[in-house]
Amino acid sequence: MTETAPLRARAEIDLAALRANVRSLRAHAPDAAFMAVVKADAYGHGMVPCARAAVEAGATWVGTATPEEALALRAAGIGGRVMCWLWTPGGPWREGVEADLDMSVSGMWALREVVAAAREAGRTARIQLKADTGLGRNGCMPADWPELVSQARQAEAEGLVRVTGIWSHFACADEPGHPSIAAQLVLFREMIAAAEERGIRPEVRHIANSPGTLTLPETHFDLVRPGIAMYGISPVPQVGTPEDFGLRPVMTLSASLALVKHAPGGHGVSYGHQYVTPGETTLGLVPLGYGDGIPRHASGTGPVLVGGKLRKVAGRVAMDQFVVDLGGDEPAVGSEAVLFGPGDRGEPTAEDWAQAAGTIAYEIVTRIGSRVPRVHV
Ligand code: PLP
Repeated sequence: MTETAPLRARAEIDLAALRANVRSLRAHAPDAAFMAVVKADAYGHGMVPCARAAVEAGATWVGTATPEEALALRAAGIGGRVMCWLWTPGGPWREGVEADLDMSVSGMWALREVVAAAREAGRTARIQLKADTGLGRNGCMPADWPELVSQARQAEAEGLVRVTGIWSHFACADEPGHPSIAAQLVLFREMIAAAEERGIRPEVRHIANSPGTLTLPETHFDLVRPGIAMYGISPVPQVGTPEDFGLRPVMTLSASLALVKHAPGGHGVSYGHQYVTPGETTLGLVPLGYGDGIPRHASGTGPVLVGGKLRKVAGRVAMDQFVVDLGGDEPAVGSEAVLFGPGDRGEPTAEDWAQAAGTIAYEIVTRIGSRVPRVHV
């Protein structure tokens, strides 16, 4: 395939928009450092190019879930601070120490493993202690915190670790006024104070994700950690559109129509014949399916722009393809079908697909599969 060969489908990634989104988000939290969250292949947008673009736009930290992601960033030449937070026993702590990662520690087992890795490597490991202030997921429970903090301080005194951060994560920051937000903040402050009383002097304290960054200035502390907003998707669609927050969607997903054909009325379409043509019409075949991350739950509902008009998925989304009813129009085979993008050409947005599939836009973009080439522009 040559570079100019038409693609079956493509996810165009507008890195200029991503850079502008980072600048916009930084303006919402001007006194905080900025960690660009690029886990899960940058929410489906391509981890390394997105991390680079975010750094160019002023991100001083990059965050991933797994250590493998963080090490891949280092291997691609991303310098500066790289943090990762989802460790399991026997993880690549030694590589993490040697790559100067900031490694999250949520419990005693992790502290033991990182200390052992630091000893082996003969270097100080950078760690960040994670507090469970109410998300109930990863993080150290308040009851176990004094022990974790004391042991971390001890390892610090021995030069084995440096506690660079204390951090946490919100459960309901995307629900304005949810009482758990204030409760988590109270507990976060208490857990920071408890660590400081035991001699920990973190460089950064952080808890704000995208909704916190955009709508809750009291959550900014020393660093903000947005993900979804950087990709131009509103983290609180009930509060504001991306445009309202100065953001622009970064991903445009499109495909070339693989077939355009006439069909009579009463023609069953796709598995299970959930859609039957109401009359004589034309059908267009979109060569994308759940094997590419198109949600099967959007069967019958997913919106697509073809030939300047909005259509809906007709019948079921299959593994590799779905059909749209073109209502008698006859766009040329190979015409562009736009599933989602920023919306300014009249195309649907990822948020529209989320509503059509009964999910969140995070899932729509993140699940676009590796079979769809990312074209970074
Ligand atoms: N911090 C952590 C620990 C996360 O897991 C995530 C993503 O879920 C983020 C920050 C970014 O969240 P958001 O995409 O809502 O900004």
